[in-house]
Amino acid sequence: MKVLKFGGTSVGSAENINKVISILDQQSKTTSIAVVVSAVGGITDKLLEAGSLACNKNLDYKNKYDIIWSLHNSIIDGLFPNTENDKALKKLQDNLQELISDKLNGLKSLLNGIYLINELSPKTKDKLLSFGEKLSSTIIYHTLRSRSVDVVLKNSQELIVTDSNFNNATVNFDQTDSNIQSFFNSNSSPIVLLPGFVSKSTSGEITTLGRGGSDYTAAIIAAAIEADELQIWTDVSGMFTTNPKLVKQASPIVELSYQEAVELSHFGAKVLYPPTVMPVLKKKIPIVIKNTLEPEAIGTTITKNITPNGNSPVKGISNIENVALLTLQGNGMVGVPGFSKRLFETLAQERINIILITQSSSEHTICFGISENDAERAKSAIDAVFLYEISLHKIDPIVVETDLSIIAVIGDKMKNHQGISGKMFSTLGKNNVNIRAIAQGASERNISAVIHKNDVKKALNSLHEQFFEIKTKQINLFITGVGNVGEKLIDQIKQQKAYVKEQFKINLRITGLSNSRNMVVNDDGINLKNWKQELDNGEKASLNGFLEHAKNLNLRNSVFVDITANKAVSNIYSDYLKQSISVVACNKIACSGDIEYYNELKALSRQYNASFLFETNVGAGLPVLDTLSHLITSGDKINTIQAVLSGSLNFIFNNFNAETTFYDVVKQAQEEGYTEPDPRIDLSGIDVARKILILARESGHQIELSELESDNFLTEKGLNSDSVDDFLATLKEDEAYYQSLFKSAQEKNSQLKFVAEFNDGKAKVGLKEIPEGHPFYNLKGKDNIVMFYTQRYPEQPLIIKGAGAGADVTASGLFADIIRIANN
Ligand code: ADP
Ligand code: ASP
Ligand code: MG
Repeated sequence: MKVLKFGGTSVGSAENINKVISILDQQSKTTSIAVVVSAVGGITDKLLEAGSLACNKNLDYKNKYDIIWSLHNSIIDGLFPNTENDKALKKLQDNLQELISDKLNGLKSLLNGIYLINELSPKTKDKLLSFGEKLSSTIIYHTLRSRSVDVVLKNSQELIVTDSNFNNATVNFDQTDSNIQSFFNSNSSPIVLLPGFVSKSTSGEITTLGRGGSDYTAAIIAAAIEADELQIWTDVSGMFTTNPKLVKQASPIVELSYQEAVELSHFGAKVLYPPTVMPVLKKKIPIVIKNTLEPEAIGTTITKNITPNGNSPVKGISNIENVALLTLQGNGMVGVPGFSKRLFETLAQERINIILITQSSSEHTICFGISENDAERAKSAIDAVFLYEISLHKIDPIVVETDLSIIAVIGDKMKNHQGISGKMFSTLGKNNVNIRAIAQGASERNISAVIHKNDVKKALNSLHEQFFEIKTKQINLFITGVGNVGEKLIDQIKQQKAYVKEQFKINLRITGLSNSRNMVVNDDGINLKNWKQELDNGEKASLNGFLEHAKNLNLRNSVFVDITANKAVSNIYSDYLKQSISVVACNKIACSGDIEYYNELKALSRQYNASFLFETNVGAGLPVLDTLSHLITSGDKINTIQAVLSGSLNFIFNNFNAETTFYDVVKQAQEEGYTEPDPRIDLSGIDVARKILILARESGHQIELSELESDNFLTEKGLNSDSVDDFLATLKEDEAYYQSLFKSAQEKNSQLKFVAEFNDGKAKVGLKEIPEGHPFYNLKGKDNIVMFYTQRYPEQPLIIKGAGAGADVTASGLFADIIRIANN
């Protein structure tokens, strides 16, 4: 014999009840079955809501009642379609409707009574809640009969006997087992249908077995009749590695031990009501969790002996919501026995369930987690019990923290594996999840942590990634600035996404996009095929708004990417880093501005475990800063850096000669986009100065832009010009001077290059005549070159050379920074 339990969704619509009926039809062919059903999905909550509205004198309870009424009647309509031409069937439907109306009238009277007396005691609440399962079982029973199925309906209240602890009654197994056994011994029908959740006290009052208790009803029956199997039919395909509603990558666990199932269910895997396991465990009856909506899926089997599958020792990750953490502390507790006894006795008297306990080894504090609903009651009771000690300041009044959740990592095999807790806590730490308390059972089957409720989704996702998807790491990008370079970066991500996922197990996702006008954020990742449209339809852009989105989404591995040249954007990096969101900047302002801010960003990056990378600040996509960082972290010392770092100035001096004019060449560079729209930024050398400043700072020197020596080659007039046009005009006027620069170099068989140098703690930039044979002499086009003379490269420098400007290479430099973060 088998016991099958169908949950709220399984019996939540006519369509699903039809699925249930075909499952019964199939299974009853080979064995006799007991079928336990829940209330129609959502009805227990609605009954509770109606009851509390009525109790609070709120007439809206009648609306709730109407909803309950129509839900059941529409299910009946759906189960008896096309009855117009079938008189017999119509009669059966009418009979059922009448029966249900009778029951619903009973419910209505009860609600009216609650309204009148303004009271909803635990006892009345159980009477109220019992309607859900009675209605659903009646509908299913009569539907089965109308389809000529051989079935009997048995009220479980006549079988399951409990104490009078209403809302969460304790079962008297002696009486219950004998009731169940004698009923089934005398039953000859192949299918027995029973309502779940409901029971009766020894004194004959209606009780219930706790929310989710229909699972328990089924387990009690299965154990009493020593069934071959207990099947829990629900709306998901088994017990998942973690709550599938919060983690998309969660997957069903094929096999679990009883203990693992107990731990997972206790820690929030709602799919199985925790007390369910005990009765069947004693009789070694396997539990199979199956999906009514997908009966072919294999589901989860819970048994005593499971075959080791060699996978992760972690089986699942669960969470419990609405937890309060209470802390009892004080010097008076140290070395004095009996405090915990009094504390926990008080909680037991108040019937408050403790979810987790930790005590510091100094015995100075005891900290425990309970349901938030019980927190106030617990505080008053405990403060009252310790009134005397509190008045003597031996202990403090109890401290209550709310808005917390517990997450737990669970698995039988964890005790044989070192480092699980290390991995768990470092994963949480890396993702900036603050841990308020930790507990590990001596069985080492469970490691739990109390965290803020807003961090639960992030914590579950990162832990799931760590223990179950070690192979893919999701990176959430928040990109601001989608001009030339931004667009190229998005193209590169689109093009490389599949490859990076396949080869490097990195799942790159653009979660937020912003330009100066609009911004768009999507938790599931922005569709890269039509991101422009999504951005155009997005909300009005705001720097703080974008930050708030990133903060609220609270996703693991978030990276803010700044592809603007805007000071206000660079000022917000610190706020991102404080949220443990990494920053990748193309924008040079933060690193070449005030040293204090640069230092602050570096410190925040360390403190919050978030990267701050800006490779493209120097030499676009060339790995200049990365190389420098490797040299320094491996213990090398930088003696001198010499570099040509301006693609624009290179272009200009490579094309300027006796046959051209300086004006024409600058104009051409400007028109071809090699200079900034205002060419003075390049020609004054300020851009190069910023780059060598960054190199100097990254080499470990605290240096400001004002300390840089800048050997300017422009004329006074040029430098002091008021506009771009004025500036260009001065170039024409001063052509003779610029030609003299060229001639001087030519006479020495040299090339003009704008060189940046860092030596002996000092940085300078200026125009130089570079003789033939020097590595800078043959630098072509927009190429950059950087030469590092170090302790390890004292004579022959380490040279990095290549295109140092252009949207494509800059975007690939950003891409490389993002991948560095992903690999971190
Ligand atoms: P039923 O009404 O069938 O008893 P429940 O709502 O009580 O169903 O339990 C099933 C739900 O449990 C799922 O829809 C899912 O949202 C939730 N759940 C939470 N954690 C887990 C988990 N680890 N595995 C499967 N389901 C889970
Ligand atoms: N209907 C009850 C509840 O919603 C029992 C159950 O469905 O298991 O809690
Ligand atoms: Mg349930």
